[in-house]
Amino acid sequence: MSQFADGGLLASKPYAASGAYINRMSNYCSSCRFDVKQRTGPRACPFNALYWDFIARHRDAFRGHARMAQMVRTYDKFAPDEQRRIGESAARLLAGP
Ligand code: SF4
Repeated sequence: MSQFADGGLLASKPYAASGAYINRMSNYCSSCRFDVKQRTGPRACPFNALYWDFIARHRDAFRGHARMAQMVRTYDKFAPDEQRRIGESAARLLAGP
């Protein structure tokens, strides 16, 4: 999947993951201080807000993408308040400490 840096020429989708995928592919989450099931809030897994914010920011590119359109549709089902909290959490995380 590479990094999708070529805009999808070789990679079929961006190699980006939420906490759910990391949890499925590893055993890290069981001993983590963050809750992999939460998207926002003080105990939320940071990968969740970052992942969904990534989907939201690139929604125009992903909406017609065979492997990413479903993620856009999932994001669109989140309540507006949840979408706002995701954006705010991601901005805080990206700003750093
Ligand atoms: S930050 Fe914690 S909960 Fe989130 S993916 Fe990593 S180990 Fe799992």
